Amino acid sequence: MTKGAVAARKLPSGDVVVTFCTDQAKQWHSTNLQWIQQAFGTQATEAKRTTAVLLKGLRKSDLQGVTEATFQADLGPAVETVRFRLPRDPKTTRATALVAFTSLEEARKACDQGLLWRAQLFDCEPYWDVLRPTQCYKCWAWGHIQRYCQKQALCGRCGTKAHGEGGRAGEAQCPTYSGELPYRCAGCGGKHPAWARECPKKQTAYATAREAYQYRPRTFEPTAQPTQPAQQPAQPTQPTQDTGNDDFQYVPYHKRARLATPIQKQIDQAFPYRQLQPTIHQNLATATHTPKSQQ
Ligand SMILES: [Zn+2]
Ligand SMILES: [Zn+2]
Ligand SMILES: [Zn+2]
Repeated sequence: MTKGAVAARKLPSGDVVVTFCTDQAKQWHSTNLQWIQQAFGTQATEAKRTTAVLLKGLRKSDLQGVTEATFQADLGPAVETVRFRLPRDPKTTRATALVAFTSLEEARKACDQGLLWRAQLFDCEPYWDVLRPTQCYKCWAWGHIQRYCQKQALCGRCGTKAHGEGGRAGEAQCPTYSGELPYRCAGCGGKHPAWARECPKKQTAYATAREAYQYRPRTFEPTAQPTQPAQQPAQPTQPTQDTGNDDFQYVPYHKRARLATPIQKQIDQAFPYRQLQPTIHQNLATATHTPKSQQ
């Protein structure tokens, strides 16, 4: 496909991870981007690996007239993207922002020292996706999003196969609107729409997220220090499993407390990266077809 690439792997999202044999090959492909369109079509773009932190304690009022782009520019060139998270509840005055850094070092610094914006220092912590309960808008199950869904599209109101073309247009054709059919939850079978607050599936998803929140990593692990005593430098050593030095986004798996609860399973699923060898990891570059995200 392309020079120096040793493997290509398609992710459930449709993104393709291309692995290069050397750092030089990766560097070349990161600066000469035309290969992406040649290999994947004109819509394809490079997706940089970023490390996201959650910036906390913003006031909604501070963000009046501030765009994500200007916020990003204020934070400086180490920031790749900013996404505001504004609670819809008008009574909530606080907001958070997801800040993605191109380097793990910068992300770690933000968590250790805070981020300065308009003369205010804001606390940051690693962004942990599993803390936010997610519901699929296609099959209405909890724990994944539409983009990764392989299941049949269901109607969120009556729980049967989605009507017509699906989505909002399909939902508008649902017989529950005219009272012909009662609500039937696609998740639990209860007499409510799939997104209803009283749905036990929803309540479980939120309870799980709340429990996981207590065990969230508060910072990124410090860069791995050499542990070998100085007098034995010549000894060949096994490559270390410690991922603190690569672009691993979260706290290394083995350094997190293991929990004897179903949460651990969820956490295990949330951190598949730990299975990758750091040596492979360093040479990764990614290309993506469909930047469309659901939420
Ligand atoms: Zn689904
Ligand atoms: Zn329906
Ligand atoms: Zn339900």
